[in-house]
Amino acid sequence: MLDRSQDLERIALIEALNVMDPALGRSLDPVTELAAFTFGTAIALISIVDADSQRFISRVGLALERTDRHHSICSCALQSSGILQIEDLRQDPRFHDNPIVAGPEQMRFYAGAPLVTRNGIALGTLCLMDRTPRVLTADEQRQLQTLARIVVNQMELKMSLGRREPISGLPNRQQFQADLSVLGRQDGGNQFTGVLLDVFDLQSANDAGQALGLKPVESLLRQASLRVQEVLTDDVQVYHVASTRFAFVVRNHDHAQVEALMQRLRERMRRPLMVGSIPMSPQFHAGLCDFRADPDEAGDLVRKCMVALNHALQTDACLCWYSADRDAHLRRRYRLASDAARGLAQDQFSLVYQPRYDLRDGQPVSAEALLRWTHPMLGPITPGEFIPVLECTALMPALSQWVIEHAFAQAARWQQLLPGFTLSINLSPRDFDNANLWTGMAERLQANGLVPSQIEVEITEGQWLHSHPAALPQLRAMAAAGVRIAIDDFGSGYSNFGYLSEVPISHIKVDQSLVTGLARSRTARLKVEAIIRLAQQLGYRTVAEGVEHESELSLLRLWDCNEAQGYYLARPMSADAVTQLVLACRAGPPSDMDSD
Ligand code: C2E
Ligand code: MG
Ligand code: MG
Repeated sequence: MLDRSQDLERIALIEALNVMDPALGRSLDPVTELAAFTFGTAIALISIVDADSQRFISRVGLALERTDRHHSICSCALQSSGILQIEDLRQDPRFHDNPIVAGPEQMRFYAGAPLVTRNGIALGTLCLMDRTPRVLTADEQRQLQTLARIVVNQMELKMSLGRREPISGLPNRQQFQADLSVLGRQDGGNQFTGVLLDVFDLQSANDAGQALGLKPVESLLRQASLRVQEVLTDDVQVYHVASTRFAFVVRNHDHAQVEALMQRLRERMRRPLMVGSIPMSPQFHAGLCDFRADPDEAGDLVRKCMVALNHALQTDACLCWYSADRDAHLRRRYRLASDAARGLAQDQFSLVYQPRYDLRDGQPVSAEALLRWTHPMLGPITPGEFIPVLECTALMPALSQWVIEHAFAQAARWQQLLPGFTLSINLSPRDFDNANLWTGMAERLQANGLVPSQIEVEITEGQWLHSHPAALPQLRAMAAAGVRIAIDDFGSGYSNFGYLSEVPISHIKVDQSLVTGLARSRTARLKVEAIIRLAQQLGYRTVAEGVEHESELSLLRLWDCNEAQGYYLARPMSADAVTQLVLACRAGPPSDMDSD
């Protein structure tokens, strides 16, 4: 019997070489025919021995495509260094009752040459069988072995097609994956580190390619690949897995030692390389992941190294180790993105409304529609998590349409129940990619019997307005019709009043990060007061978000802030709860703003 680890290696290699591919079998048929003809035998087969059967991928003289491994004579041939020859199977106690001997085939003679790959693993045999006992001469045996070598060469050649990166000549990602799968099965439980390197940022590569042509860029990548190989020892195979990326596995999982190796690599890589006549510094970012030689871990290594490398690229770090937390976070993002369309179709989204108060009389004057998503498996998900994910997908405009439809219908109900009470919705930069955003909104307003001044649109401040040229004309059209435009989260990022003059806004909402805890922070007090003053002078109404304490409210009143919104006043709630709250406020004495 073969030992188990040899067996696993062989099975992994059968997969890696894609030996069961019928096209490979067909391409080997001439060899099998030649063998049957040359040796004058009734049967010639190329037999591959896998976990529990032997399969005849090319055959002459036998209808059978496979047999149990238990009945496989070839499986014994795998262990012989040369040819296994059995002059008369009927006389051999191991095989005399084998179905191919005792059954209708009545085979007597067997000779099998193992198909041994470059790395010394026997995949199966090229074998001959006949109905009369016989013996192969030494010359015939050599010929059979030569034919077996031709078979293996053909298998390896077919595999290597499409397995090398033409620019560097190094094995490519497919080969990396195939070799990992072999490693995963052969080195039971040993620990390694997978490394994925990015040596040149793609944008610079594109720029250089456009200006100089592709040859100098390819030369840079070739030189970079040589540098990687120079630093690594000979037993480490480097793979060229994507245009600017190389991968390899080191037989070490000691983080300090692997990081020292990365440091050496980085120093070597960072020295300038010539692209045309321009000296360029290749960059160096590495994603690292330690793994056990186990089929599952090895199979997932490339993906995990990508997670680590992307982390290094995003944080501009020289190297990052794979983090399971980060991976889980990315997978969750991906899951949200892929589940959102179904969520929309299955009514998993809903709206809550947070009232906004006028600070002069303490009355609720409007409400902000805020999205909620209750995922059937993951439970409630905050918009702070799902909106940024969906903003990167094509679904965002559809989701905003859904918000517009439902929020406007609610605004119409409030016009009946709470005359003068208005509604604001949040729109994201992605929404302005839809050139018909405003016409669609106008149509919904009309269908619900609303006038534009009953609606406010909140957009976040920022540079995005410049990168979305379609946004400004749409905002101007909305404002011209009477829709109020508010700048949300003002003061949270690179706030400046400069661009505000370009946008037809009426309200500035001061970000909650400045408002919450206002009384305790002198800097926040200075900032909020300055924002309110300046906004007033420029003619904008001011709204403070995130009011959580009476002390904040007092300061805001002192500075003549116009409106406020926050947990201290009212939390986001259902539309019916808003109706009750507003009716109660309107019926009673002026609110002491203690309604939460
Ligand atoms: P936002 O537009 O600035 O909305 C205010 C957020 O602050 C809401 O969070 C609200 O629940 C929360 N908030 C209100 N008062 C307080 C307070 O006193 N303290 C604290 N800590 N938080 C307060 P929410 O509902 O989780 O929404 C987060 C963000 O998600 C919103 O920020 C908005 O940018 C976005 N969003 C929500 N709904 C939509 C939507 O329909 N469309 C778009 N594009 N974005 C939305
Ligand atoms: Mg908002
Ligand atoms: Mg806000």
